[in-house]
Amino acid sequence: MHDTHLFKNILKYLEDQERLSSRKVKKVHLSISEFGSLSKEHLLEHFKEAISNNSRWQGLEVEVGIIPFGSELEITGLEFAKRTKGRKK
Ligand SMILES: [Zn+2]
Repeated sequence: MHDTHLFKNILKYLEDQERLSSRKVKKVHLSISEFGSLSKEHLLEHFKEAISNNSRWQGLEVEVGIIPFGSELEITGLEFAKRTKGRKK
């Protein structure tokens, strides 16, 4: 199976960010190159497969944007869940 390592790296990155921020990642924004070899559908398939193998990431949302130039696959943003403690309103 190809590009599985990409997702391991992405999930590893998310783990690091969760540790640094002490918050859960709720959503990840990715971008792919319009002229790259990865299609959005293919990417999402791999993503779903990667998170379904890991209960830690159940419910993680993903949004994929397409850029004309740039890296084939890039993490462009993260959304964190709100802290449950000290929350207002
Ligand atoms: Zn593939």
